[in-house]
Amino acid sequence: MEKIEEIKKNFLSEIKKAKSLKELDLIFNEYLGKGGKISVFFKKLKDLPIEKRKILGKKLNFLKEFFEKEIEKKKKIFFQKKEKEIFDITLPPKKIERGHLHPLTQTKRKVEEIFTSFGFEVVEGPEIEDEWHNFDALNMPPWHPARDVLSLGKTFYLKEKGYLLRSHTSAVQIRYLETHNPPFKIIVPGRVFRAESTDASHEIDFWQLEGLMVQKETSLANFKAVIEEFFKRFFEKQIKVRLRPSYFPFVEPGVEVDISCPICQMKGCSVCKQSGFIEVAGAGMVHPFVFKAVKLNPREWQGFAFGFGLTRLAMIKYKISDIRYFNSGDLRFLKQF
Ligand SMILES: [Zn+2]
Repeated sequence: MEKIEEIKKNFLSEIKKAKSLKELDLIFNEYLGKGGKISVFFKKLKDLPIEKRKILGKKLNFLKEFFEKEIEKKKKIFFQKKEKEIFDITLPPKKIERGHLHPLTQTKRKVEEIFTSFGFEVVEGPEIEDEWHNFDALNMPPWHPARDVLSLGKTFYLKEKGYLLRSHTSAVQIRYLETHNPPFKIIVPGRVFRAESTDASHEIDFWQLEGLMVQKETSLANFKAVIEEFFKRFFEKQIKVRLRPSYFPFVEPGVEVDISCPICQMKGCSVCKQSGFIEVAGAGMVHPFVFKAVKLNPREWQGFAFGFGLTRLAMIKYKISDIRYFNSGDLRFLKQF
């Protein structure tokens, strides 16, 4: 009987020391396997008198069950450990690379933020336009020479007659005027399309920003004040604005808008071509023809409109030398912003 107690003691100490499933298997074989220590005892039973056989048999069965349970218990511990190794939530996670907004989106949001702080509303319009909104209502009938400049070989016409990819965001001026009563102040950021041969400063697909303010009374002086404050906040420095007379069919009078070069502070650099000024926008007072086209009385309402290249502003602000980078999808470019 002592021997059985010894076996139990040895078994327990071996189980305690076991470090792997493989070792557990060895222990199982040693005690419970075919030639194992318990099995040897079982074989001896038949030589014993019936009373002793009963008692020892009971003991052996009890021990066998106990051993099996102990081995199972230990196995469970090993499995739990293994699972823990796989799903250890305390391990530092793999770094997930985070993306960021495209430089044009950043520029667009900045511009929107500034203009909404002036009380302007952000409006959008369709990228597929009809000729009425893109040309006719903006005082560019089919015979008008100005329409040639924009349309002759430069507009993407669709197969559906009279439809095109808008060549400027000014089309949204008309859409908005047709459906809203003044007074109002809106800006329209959006993509425009022109069939250009691409180079460092020309793309077939770029962003513009249109602005329109219609009131009972407004003037180019109001426009200049708004735009000067805008550029100051956008470039985060003092910017001088210069207006030069120019011609656009949908404004009268029309002006080109130059700003003092934010890169060289008017000392002269390659961006401003040594002139100290950069041309950034076209603007003017809304032409009476446009008011009439949308059935508003030009004697009753006044408005100024402007359009500048959002893409161009981003290029100046971030000192980007080639417009084609924006659509290239080149991460070496994009990761810099
Ligand atoms: Zn400069």
